[in-house]
Amino acid sequence: MSDLPSSRRKPKPEVKIVGGRTLKPSTLMMGFGYDPVLSEGSLKPPIFLTSTFVFESAEAGKRHFEGITGKRKDATGGLVYSRFNGPNQEILEDRLSVWDGAEDALVFSSGMTAICILLMAFCRAGDVIVHSGPLYAASEGFIANVLGKYGVGYVDFPAGATRAELDAVLAQAKAKAADAGGKVAMIYLESPGNPTNALVDIEAVRDARDAALDANETPIAIDNTFLGPLWQSPLRHGADIVVYSLTKYAGGHSDLVSGSVSGAKRWIDPVRSLRNTMGGICDPNTAWMLLRSLETLEIRMQRATQNAIRVCGFLDAHPKVEGVGFLGLLKDGRQKDIYDRHCSGPGSTFSLFIKGGEAESFRFLDALKVAKLAVSLGGTETLASHPAAMTHLSVPDARKAQLGITDNLVRISIGIEDADDLIADFDQALAAV
Ligand SMILES: *Cc1c(COP(=O)(O)O)cnc(C)c1O
Repeated sequence: MSDLPSSRRKPKPEVKIVGGRTLKPSTLMMGFGYDPVLSEGSLKPPIFLTSTFVFESAEAGKRHFEGITGKRKDATGGLVYSRFNGPNQEILEDRLSVWDGAEDALVFSSGMTAICILLMAFCRAGDVIVHSGPLYAASEGFIANVLGKYGVGYVDFPAGATRAELDAVLAQAKAKAADAGGKVAMIYLESPGNPTNALVDIEAVRDARDAALDANETPIAIDNTFLGPLWQSPLRHGADIVVYSLTKYAGGHSDLVSGSVSGAKRWIDPVRSLRNTMGGICDPNTAWMLLRSLETLEIRMQRATQNAIRVCGFLDAHPKVEGVGFLGLLKDGRQKDIYDRHCSGPGSTFSLFIKGGEAESFRFLDALKVAKLAVSLGGTETLASHPAAMTHLSVPDARKAQLGITDNLVRISIGIEDADDLIADFDQALAAV
């Protein structure tokens, strides 16, 4: 009984090879990491609503704690207590790691819990975080205002920065860390950035990090919420850790809040240790819903992206539209070059610039009949919002101007509805402007 398949430090299940083929994530989402024989033959995993797990013997209990505390590296630590782990969460973690080709993964009660615990696990007073900008506002606020209170500094750079600019930023960060008696603890990226869709050159960041810093000491983490896991695989381009708000495309139905962190075990272990202490693991019901969601992740993201390509083609040619900030419409240049090297699809979240200002944008939003007026993204339904007046209302005007968050900017996340219905909706809403 010591090797219950759901125990955390069980060897992660091997990805099966069938007829010479290594099975793809879209196939693995239907069963990877779950054995029906252990649950009365139930095709789908039951939801394990329990706070604690019974040990088969005192010796087994000791082994499990050796695993949880990391006291013995070879311990096959099993299920102990639901703040640490649970069967639904472990199956989910195994399946999430498959998408990014990561050795290990952890799930959290929200994207922000994942991001905060990740950053805290790697920083101490005197350290400096280097990050791309813009970041999701709460991530930026956590680094500047919360970690700042504990003596952690930061240096930021604009998303499209070139290798030469990155070299200068890392030199500045190293000097700042040396002054404060710390190190550059992490390079934290978000690509594409919200709401501009500006892409970070992950390969250039990796090269700059390897030239200036110790790759064993300063990991590169990236928030891959907008394109991942389908259209961008940052671990293949030099990132060490991938972060998600699973609330968005991974959950995909606008009915749950969750987050994750994945990467090599050596980077994930300190994060697990802090999650064990603080809590913040995703609950079993949410984990189960995410397992359901991952079964359709590929077809949902493909359909939403096909819809977005159609809709953006229509919007881009419309006389009342000033421009469309969509990765599928990039003109030749640095951003297009980054896109071609890092991304396999444009996703379905973009910025629409309407001719006019706030009044025209509000008239457009209020006239929508199929698309819903709401923040968030990545759901089955199309959502539209106004960043300057909503998600980014508290951002100072100068920073808004610098980030290109104008009063005529409408943020749209395309869902999986019929593309022609969406085009008809946008057409009649633009007519109302
Ligand atoms: C939504 C979002 C987050 C925060 O995730 P929650 O699940 O809402 O906590 C972080 N990063 C990006 C890019 C997001 O879109």
